[in-house]
Amino acid sequence: MKEIFSSEKLSDRLYRITEISGVCCYLVVGDNKACLLDTCCGYGDLKAFVATITDKPVFVVLTHGHHDHMGAAALFDEVYMNPADKPVFDSFGDMERRLADMKGHEETSFIPDDNLVPTLTEGIRDLHEGDEFDLGGLNIKMIAAKGHTPGILCPLLIEERTIIFGDACGVGVLLFDEFSSTVSEYRESLLNLKQYENEYDRIYRNHGTFTSPKELLDNVIECCDLILSGKDDHQPVNIHGFHLFAAKEQEYDKRLDGKEGNIKYLQEKAV
Ligand SMILES: [Zn+2]
Repeated sequence: MKEIFSSEKLSDRLYRITEISGVCCYLVVGDNKACLLDTCCGYGDLKAFVATITDKPVFVVLTHGHHDHMGAAALFDEVYMNPADKPVFDSFGDMERRLADMKGHEETSFIPDDNLVPTLTEGIRDLHEGDEFDLGGLNIKMIAAKGHTPGILCPLLIEERTIIFGDACGVGVLLFDEFSSTVSEYRESLLNLKQYENEYDRIYRNHGTFTSPKELLDNVIECCDLILSGKDDHQPVNIHGFHLFAAKEQEYDKRLDGKEGNIKYLQEKAV
């Protein structure tokens, strides 16, 4: 059977774990404990895989409640998430929906049904903007970035000078359903993120190329401004059955003008 997980060492204390779904999560290893940032779709025993990398006690931080980030959370004893994302978690955690998603993609359709880790049902601990975790020699600070979901948080790995933007800011940020913010509210979140710009050198994400240059943030703020002034490219795109518009013309999440950073939004969010 094909391997479900692979890993990549990004620094002495940071690992990227990529699931066969194409989604990745990040493992941060401090002197005393380790923190798993997100848990992918839950298509295999992520806990056992993490144990091949570190023997430190591991806790989990979920950046937001989408199925491709919280999938394997139930394998772990200590799991944190912003309670503002609980409605998102409950909606996307529906097991039939998760199973259909696994079976609906060619690269994951071979996985046996019972490999899918059941959705975590209780015991999620509250996490809020500004909360910090001390792993021993390495601190993680949570920064609010409401937009893609109401409670999405970006982990700033302080000593690593690295931030995980995750789905909060990237090459095709989705403002796509009833849980997503309007563009103007999202713009405020990006300006909040920008306050921390001098505290990181690297941006990591959970999909596609997994990394972005620092100008990403300014480019996505510019997308907000263009949408709000009605001057964006307004390219129709269909994603997960949603009829959205891309702020800048793109093909497979690559902007035609070569810059990085884009928003795909529902028309009603363009206020
Ligand atoms: Zn998401």
